[in-house]
Formats: sequence, C-alpha cells, structure tokens
Amino acid sequence: MSESNTSREIKSVGHPVKVRELTVKRLEKITPRFLRVILSGPDLFDFVSLSPDDHIKAFFAAPGQGPDFGRPSLGPNGLTFEEGKPTPVMRDYTPRWFRDKELCLEFFLHEGGSGAEWARNAQVGSKLVIAGPRGSRIVPEAFDWYLMIGDESSLPSFQRRLEEMSPETQGHLFIEVENESEKPSFKAPAGMKIHWVLRNGSKASDPSKIQAAIRDLAFPEGDYFAWVSGEGSWVKSTSELLLETKGAHKEWLKATAYWNAQSPN
Ligand SMILES: Cc1cc2nc3c(=O)[nH]c(=O)nc-3n(C[C@H](O)[C@H](O)[C@H](O)COP(=O)(O)OP(=O)(O)OC[C@H]3O[C@@H](n4cnc5c(N)ncnc54)[C@H](O)[C@@H]3O)c2cc1C
Repeated sequence: MSESNTSREIKSVGHPVKVRELTVKRLEKITPRFLRVILSGPDLFDFVSLSPDDHIKAFFAAPGQGPDFGRPSLGPNGLTFEEGKPTPVMRDYTPRWFRDKELCLEFFLHEGGSGAEWARNAQVGSKLVIAGPRGSRIVPEAFDWYLMIGDESSLPSFQRRLEEMSPETQGHLFIEVENESEKPSFKAPAGMKIHWVLRNGSKASDPSKIQAAIRDLAFPEGDYFAWVSGEGSWVKSTSELLLETKGAHKEWLKATAYWNAQSPN
C-alpha cells in the first residue's frame, strides 16, 4: 500500500467525563454466557463513542455489600463517592453501539465478579451508573491488513470494529471461547478471516492454543495493525510472539489486559 505514514496516524480525541444513571430497557441472550444489555435514559443525550477501543466505567456493589452504594460524582480531582455509603467497584465495558438514544453493552457472564453478577441479575428497569468514555483512539484504515486476537471479553469491541470497517478490509481475527455453543454469529468484511479457537476445558489464561493457531498462519504480506486483548499474561505473551516472530511493529500493536486471572478485588 502506498499510504504515507501520516495517514497511519492514530488520532486521540478526548471527551468530557460524565456520570450517567441509566435504566435497562431490554436484555438479549447472545450465547449461553453472553448477555446484551440495552440501556436508556435522559443522561445519554450527549453520549459520544467514536471508536471500538472506547470503554466506559460501570459501577457495581462490591462483594458482600448491599446493592446501595455511594454514587460517584465528578469533582476537580476526578471521581469522588457519596460519603457514608460503601464505595462501589468500577469495571470497564465497551460501548457495543449507541444509536436511537440507546446504549448497548455486552457482558461475558464468567464466574464470580461484581460486573458479571450484576448482569446475571439484571432485569428490565434495573439501574446502572456509568462514567465515560473519557476518550477515543481512532486507528485509520490505512494499513494493508488488520489482526485482532482476543477472548470473550474482546468480542464486543471486535464485533463493533468489524461492523464499522469498510467492506474491503482484509485481515484475520483469532478468538478464543470455551466451546462451539459460545461462538456468536456476526457480520464481518469478506476479507476478514475468522479463526475460532476452542478452549474445551483448558484455562482461559493459557495462551498455548491461540498461539499455536497464530504460528500456523502464514501472515499476509504488508504492514498490519494488531489488537490483542484478554487475560493479562495471555495478552503479554501473545504480543511478544507477534513482536518476536510475526513482524509486528510496537507502535502498531495495541495490547490491553482486559482482565487478570488474579483480580484485585
Ligand atoms: C477496555 C476494556 C473493555 C472491556 N470490555 C468488555 C466488554 O465489553 N464486555 C465484557 O464482558 N468485558 C469487558 N472487559 C473486561 C471486564 O472489564 C473484566 O472482565 C472485568 O474484570 C469484569 O469484572 P467482574 O466484576 O465481572 O469480575 P472481577 O471482579 O474483575 O473478577 C472476578 C473473577 O472473575 C475472573 N474474570 C474476570 N473477567 C473474566 C473474564 N472475562 N473471563 C474469565 N474470568 C474473568 C477474575 O480473574 C476473578 O477471578 C473490558 C475490559 C477493558 C479493559
């Protein structure tokens, strides 16, 4: 591709952070452990999400605490919480889409965890407090091809990216899920090849299956931009594989730990 380096510039756009209280409007089960939650409410009037890399913070009751927690608000020093009430936990989720004044989040219903637990119990009318996104990172469609590697937690971002890419986009998507029943169907440009990797009982933090699949693929010629997201150690070693043996460029690699096998709380 004869694009200049400038056209490959990754643009960052900041957004004013706002706390929004939303109401669950609809719930849709995508696969046995994936739930689409569609939220609405007047606080969404100025919601903006420009990139599939965006994330919002959602606030949940901490384990062992009642459902009532200190509401976050934004002060000069960032987020503060209502006094006299338990401080909530914050978790990151991808705005899957925002249209017709509705915001869609998709939750992977893994075992344990305040976020997954909230989604498991969510009903039409349930409330969810969110903040953000605080910014958008926009990767241009100026690369020869694109690579996405992730697990269930990456599906909302990757599916959104596939839907928003131009139909001519070329590339490869490697996604690891537990078994056949957890493969959602989705739209993708014809040139984006999807490689499903089934865990079938191995640990979600074990990168050996996905790395074997990546090694087996003869990568297309040309420059590529890669996203790698999932469990922290899995992301780290998979990124190293790309950098050391698959011609990845550090500045064209977005590697993000979406969760950790040992979570902080
Ligand atoms: C930028 C960004 C965007 C994200 N977008 C999404 C999204 O759209 N949808 C989504 O479902 N997740 C998304 N995640 C991941 C999500 O924030 C984490 O999975 C988070 O830890 C879930 O919080 P929790 O309270 O449910 O579990 P935690 O309290 O964090 O963890 C409880 C237990 O569950 C384990 N655990 C946590 N997450 C997972 C997982 N994904 N798979 C298996 N075990 C897990 C932990 O190791 C721990 O043992 C995103 C993360 C980031 C950084």
